[in-house]
Amino acid sequence: MSSQRGSLVVISGPSGVGKTTITHALVDRLHAVFSVSMTTRAKTSADTEGRDYFFVDAAHFEKAIEDGELLEWAKVFDNYYGTPRGPVERNLDAGRDVILEIDVEGAKQVKKTMPEAQAIFVLPPSEDELLSRLRKRAREDESVIQRRFREAQREIAEAKACGAYDHFIVNEKLDEAVDLAHRTVVEHKQANPSA
Ligand code: 5GP
Repeated sequence: MSSQRGSLVVISGPSGVGKTTITHALVDRLHAVFSVSMTTRAKTSADTEGRDYFFVDAAHFEKAIEDGELLEWAKVFDNYYGTPRGPVERNLDAGRDVILEIDVEGAKQVKKTMPEAQAIFVLPPSEDELLSRLRKRAREDESVIQRRFREAQREIAEAKACGAYDHFIVNEKLDEAVDLAHRTVVEHKQANPSA
């Protein structure tokens, strides 16, 4: 076991803001571990079981909640999402940094139980830009895009109001947002050696 515990980093942001790309770039740069969440949402062709998510049914998820196996969990777009506690604790104890990509409800729970965690929220350059990015992804029809847009507006307002986030990063140019997120995490670690 390493003498210094790893750092826990939380990344959140509305859908379409590029947070998954930023999260994976950070995992590479920091040689950190990506926490694979458990979810009841349907697996898509873009998903790999065990790499993107562990796909389970609602009964399995509810049992995991009951057994205290989740560090945090939330219902997002009618599906359960949660962070398995065991791998996070084991990796932190082994001195590895762990990155969670979770929503605002989850981030609030993590900051309550592990206040030393560093939470970053990724913002779009503007609401217009977010709407046009959601449309460009064209994964969904317009009514779903509008729902995601309203949800994004709500999530941004909640993130700003809730006090759980240490840093807000605007993703205007991806490379610059990744550089800034990386610097932010490194500086936070230096300023909080026990974090
Ligand atoms: P998606 O289905 O698009 O992969 O994710 C939908 C939302 O669920 C995103 O905002 C994502 O950050 C969030 N999410 C993914 N995993 C978790 C988790 O383990 N816990 C929580 N609270 N949210 C999660």
